[in-house]
Amino acid sequence: MSDGVLFDKVAFIGIGLIGSSLARALRQEGLAGRLATYDHSAEARAKALELGVVDEAPADLGEAVRDADLVMVCVPIGACADLGPALAPHLKPGAIVSDVGSVKQAVIRDLGPVIPDGVFFVPGHPIAGTEHSGPEAGFAELFQGRWCIITPPTGTNEEAVEKVAEMWRRVGSMVEIMDPHHHDKVLAITSHLPHLIAYTIVGTATGLEESLQQEVIKFSASGFRDFTRIAASDPVMWRDIFLNNREAVLEMLQRFSEDLTALQRAIRWGEGDTLQDLFTRTRAVRRGIVDARQA
Ligand code: NAP
Repeated sequence: MSDGVLFDKVAFIGIGLIGSSLARALRQEGLAGRLATYDHSAEARAKALELGVVDEAPADLGEAVRDADLVMVCVPIGACADLGPALAPHLKPGAIVSDVGSVKQAVIRDLGPVIPDGVFFVPGHPIAGTEHSGPEAGFAELFQGRWCIITPPTGTNEEAVEKVAEMWRRVGSMVEIMDPHHHDKVLAITSHLPHLIAYTIVGTATGLEESLQQEVIKFSASGFRDFTRIAASDPVMWRDIFLNNREAVLEMLQRFSEDLTALQRAIRWGEGDTLQDLFTRTRAVRRGIVDARQA
């Protein structure tokens, strides 16, 4: 595909961390003629305009989406069920609807059936983010060197898939096409379980008696601090992820609980070799991530 504009008009539904980062990246790379947003937060719309992230931010969903060649849904996944029917009548024939939601089967379940004939639905998930939210938190480089997983349902128009893939490549991402069910399983272990563990550890610390809590903050650099960064992630977004990827998360949690019990036994019975073997294997995993430049 040649360089230049990929879409004459892109409309973002939700202009928080991910939406505003992609809008900035599209602008920086000259991939869109015009950028619009509809966000139900008037504050977010005003901020996005003030920051120059988009060209227009009407208070009306239909107006924002009108004539858009690409509509990027960038809201928490729990919002998709209500959004779909409101969005559908405003989509122009030939438009592409894509998204960035962290769970794919639920988004496909909620948005897929309401997308009109002649409009192409290409779900996606950039594996990039921070613990911050809102349009101020976004930055154009967020997706550089990161993977974006595209999960087209069977029979999705291949040209539309390629166009969305090309957009992600041109903002610096590597693209992988994946089955939505497989995506949700992979993300349950790589993202959702780690967040659940971080939320749990930090939650446990907040339940300690006052004197211990103060020591936790003071000496947090010994490990706790790294969990607090993850546990500072957006509460609404993460509530929706756990409610919408229930089966896969519960399966990984079951496995994790079994492994934790095994470690508990090893500590109780003084089985140093068991502990050392595991810690040696996990250290190798870290090296693999560093070598893959995903650290
Ligand atoms: P965010 O910063 O909180 O932005 C979401 C924006 O959408 C907010 O301004 C929110 O307004 C607005 N919104 C919520 N419901 C809406 C609706 N029904 N109609 C219009 N606007 C609505 O969230 P984000 O981090 O960009 O996440 C957006 C999506 O990206 C989520 O689906 C998430 O799973 C996915 N994702 C996130 C990350 C990450 O690290 N953050 C990474 C990859 C993918 P209010 O806040 O006022 O409700």
